Amino acid sequence: RCRASWSSEDSDGDSEGSGAECVHRVVLLGDHGVGKSSMAKIFAGIQETHDHTEDTYEKTMTVDGEETTLIVMDTWENEKQEDETWVQDYCMQVGNAYVIVYSITDRGSFESASELRIQLRRIRQAENIPIILVGNKSDLVRSREVAVEEGRACAVVFDCKFIETSASLHHNVHELFEGVVRQIRLRRDSKET
Ligand code: GDP
Ligand code: MG
Repeated sequence: RCRASWSSEDSDGDSEGSGAECVHRVVLLGDHGVGKSSMAKIFAGIQETHDHTEDTYEKTMTVDGEETTLIVMDTWENEKQEDETWVQDYCMQVGNAYVIVYSITDRGSFESASELRIQLRRIRQAENIPIILVGNKSDLVRSREVAVEEGRACAVVFDCKFIETSASLHHNVHELFEGVVRQIRLRRDSKET
């Protein structure tokens, strides 16, 4: 039932199958310091204190009784690459879904999130890709610079889903990735009928 989703161009790749083919790449976008790596590690079940060299995490999740494998890519700001522009272009091309993260304590990161949404729309124009806007660090109540309503309103304008999370408290992070899976399925199911 799952489509092979290795190429965004591969719309005629009607490969039937299960398991390995039910794989969807989820790219994390957003400014430095907003919490992308923290979220990716929570997704993968890795302790924050562990040393790690990976920036791509794969996990099979059961959501609503059905298994789906997500590959979460935390490659947006990869210091190991000299040519960051190339990496960012690549990220914009390869995602089957996008999580655009800002910090509720950093208005600049909220503005960057809008720019990223616009960039994505330009690059992936014809495609209806799932995008989730995420306001992270919801635990830092006293340093909040972006109201929940602003995040929600922005998501309406940009036609995407919205959730506030706290990677520190592990609040809503698993819900976020379940939401990604549901958004991917909604589009798959509407294509099949
Ligand atoms: P990245 O640059 O987007 O990958 O952000 P990181 O995951 O490296 O996080 C940057 C800093 O913010 C780290 O010190 C994290 O511990 C901290 N951080 C991440 N998420 C949260 C959160 O939800 N709440 C708080 N209070 N701090 C967070
Ligand atoms: Mg990081």
